[in-house]
Amino acid sequence: MADVQLDWNNLGFEYRNLPYRYRAYWKDGAWYKKELTGDATLHISEGSTALHYGQQDFEGLKAYRTKDGSVQLFRPDRNAARMQTSCERLLMPQVPTDMFVDAVKQVVKANQDYVPPYGTGATLYLRPLMIGVGGNIGVHPAQEYIFTVFAMPVGSYFKGGMTPTNFTTSEYDRAAHKGTGAYKVGGNYAASLFPGQEAHANGFSDCVYLDPVEHRKIEEVGSANFFGITKDGTFVTPKSPSILPAVTKYSLLYLAEHKFGMKTEQGDVYIDDLDRFAEAGACGTAAVISPIGGLEHQGKLHVFYSETEVGPVTKKLYDELTGIQFGDREAPEGWVQKVELD
Ligand SMILES: *Cc1c(COP(=O)(O)O)cnc(C)c1O
Repeated sequence: MADVQLDWNNLGFEYRNLPYRYRAYWKDGAWYKKELTGDATLHISEGSTALHYGQQDFEGLKAYRTKDGSVQLFRPDRNAARMQTSCERLLMPQVPTDMFVDAVKQVVKANQDYVPPYGTGATLYLRPLMIGVGGNIGVHPAQEYIFTVFAMPVGSYFKGGMTPTNFTTSEYDRAAHKGTGAYKVGGNYAASLFPGQEAHANGFSDCVYLDPVEHRKIEEVGSANFFGITKDGTFVTPKSPSILPAVTKYSLLYLAEHKFGMKTEQGDVYIDDLDRFAEAGACGTAAVISPIGGLEHQGKLHVFYSETEVGPVTKKLYDELTGIQFGDREAPEGWVQKVELD
């Protein structure tokens, strides 16, 4: 690799101004000026709907360095499809899948010296994002949009990686059932900042949200989906209209069933019925799989497998998923895409 020297083994999850990002502009029904730029600053009108009314959505995916030095993406077409549904919900224009995947590949290629070396567990995180821009003040969708993709090398999201951490339930909601919980929009995150800070202040990794109707069923963590492994080996994830449909979760559901022959279930996960689970975890692109040691609810800590050790099924799923992502294990058809490098 060129002359980029970073402490690859100790990267956090922090913004870094890399040499290149992709940018495209939308007006009058079409994308234009689609190109890489070195400018990390956006110049937008103070009337932009993204600033006032949260007309904004985003994605998150990673590029992985494989053993032979090549670089690959994990299911970028799924992120493109999800961004299309988010844009539809917020009355924003669509980025076609080809354009999305091409933009991501261009950014990885242009910043290839920043894709961390194989074996460090670190990756190049990609952040596609769209904002409504232009001079507006009325509550209407914007007339103009910017789609941009930037990147940064990252280590693991939850400190401690595969070591379990404790979570707590929150008395707050991040999303309503017919709101925007199923879409990757900034507003959901704005709503989660305060409860997240409260959880951290109380010594927890993050909080787990309960269903916004009765607060009886687990929904998800603020930036990762919840899963549990029942005592008889079923992989269970909550089903709810206000959960973000995570690429990681659907990949784990597939691997649990087709690779490991486990039973899988998307259904109700009652907070007062956690004894059915032998293991639990949080999953997402950034978090990968973070084992949940204990979950606190109304002052009582429910410990799943152990507060200090990861359970065997969680470990097995993690090894398979990351093995596929880093190119060490065979991927199901269409799951990985090579990035052409210089
Ligand atoms: C992005 C996100 C996830 C994880 O989704 P992946 O596609 O696996 O990265 C989970 N929950 C929320 C709320 C998210 O925003």
